[in-house]
Amino acid sequence: MAMNAPPYQRPSPWLDRLRRSGLVMLATAVALTALVFLNDLTVSRALLAFICIAGASLVPLRLHEAARTRDETSEARLAEGAVVRAMVAGMPDPAVLLDRVGRVLHLNAQAAQLAPALRRNELALFALRSPEIIAALRAAIATTQMQRANYVERVPVERWMELVVSPVSMPTEFGGIDNCFLMTFHDQTQLRRVEEMRADFVANASHELRTPLAALSGFIDTLQGPARDDPKARDRFLGIMHAQATRMARLIDDLLSLSRVELSAHVRPDARVDVVPILRQVVDGLEVLARERQVTIETSLPSAPVLIAGDSEELLRVFVNLIENGLKYGASGGRVVVSLLQATEGDSAPEVRVAVRDYGPGIAPEHLPRLTERFYRVDVGDSRAQGGTGLGLSLVKHIVNRHGGRLLIESVPGKGATFTACFPPLRTSAEV
Ligand code: ADP
Repeated sequence: MAMNAPPYQRPSPWLDRLRRSGLVMLATAVALTALVFLNDLTVSRALLAFICIAGASLVPLRLHEAARTRDETSEARLAEGAVVRAMVAGMPDPAVLLDRVGRVLHLNAQAAQLAPALRRNELALFALRSPEIIAALRAAIATTQMQRANYVERVPVERWMELVVSPVSMPTEFGGIDNCFLMTFHDQTQLRRVEEMRADFVANASHELRTPLAALSGFIDTLQGPARDDPKARDRFLGIMHAQATRMARLIDDLLSLSRVELSAHVRPDARVDVVPILRQVVDGLEVLARERQVTIETSLPSAPVLIAGDSEELLRVFVNLIENGLKYGASGGRVVVSLLQATEGDSAPEVRVAVRDYGPGIAPEHLPRLTERFYRVDVGDSRAQGGTGLGLSLVKHIVNRHGGRLLIESVPGKGATFTACFPPLRTSAEV
């Protein structure tokens, strides 16, 4: 078995000096004793001389000891400084370490990018422009308490930022403790947008529910009052009330579906589903509406099964929404074509594409990117008149995304619109 040699240990310089001082004292003692024996020196003088020389020989030892302690302390300070600098540099958000008066000790690259005027060993207050930051920093220095501030960065893009100034205790060169401050900046833009979207969503949903509710209570008042004994008006009002109640039910249904799909947004459905029978079922179910709108639905579907990994209920919802929209908004074109094809783009695997094409008025290009936003409609009045909720395409997009697919919208105003839901094909067992 191989033996490891003990590590080489450098002789301690402190011991070396002690040994040298001992030798000096020994030599002095011998010389003084000889002089006393030769009667050249009295014993008391020899003793005095010995004490002086011994003391003098020990002085370098004391000096060396002090120098060694000082060296060790400054080495430890250097190491601590490097650790602090590395920690500040490694922070994911912009971070600046300030001394107790607000002078910059360290800053990371993100902070330098956020506030290019910040310089090491200079006061941060002079380099920062936002009044909120300056006030927070001043308060932190004055109170040594943590301070938070929110402000908006306008350049290069608008960003909502949060600043946190936290007091931190740092060891000083002389062994004491100094109050420093760690300034960190956090980008809150994404969070803010989500909050705004949530607030908008609640406001929109409440508004959409309040409209039919107001109509319902208005008609109830009328039926209880002036139209109480008018059977013709009563029948007409009850018809409108039924339509409004249906609209409310549909809105609630769409809202629930949307939140269900969002909850499972990251879970890909894995059941093997044949898209063809689902499309046939939807087309059959919408025949009545098509007749009402005087639109013919034409289909171009393969006879063989086309399998994808999916959730048949959700796919049904996608196709109902797309075809119903074609019947509602593209009725003037007189026909809606539903086709299924398996496309190949370049070397990629084939994609299963379900296209719904109508020949109605189409959609102006400026609306296309916003159509899948919740409650977005090209014409709110038209959508309401058609019993729309403004949530259909948003739901379609979420479902298609959950299936790992994409939704394409193409339209030439005056010539109709094509909505294509593209799905990845089912992976064969050899690919899994
Ligand atoms: P809605 O419940 O209002 O139908 P959707 O999300 O399904 O909500 O559609 C959003 C809007 O997109 C509709 O209000 C309509 O203005 C427009 N739209 C959807 N499909 C078509 C289409 N085939 N032709 C023209 N406009 C359409």
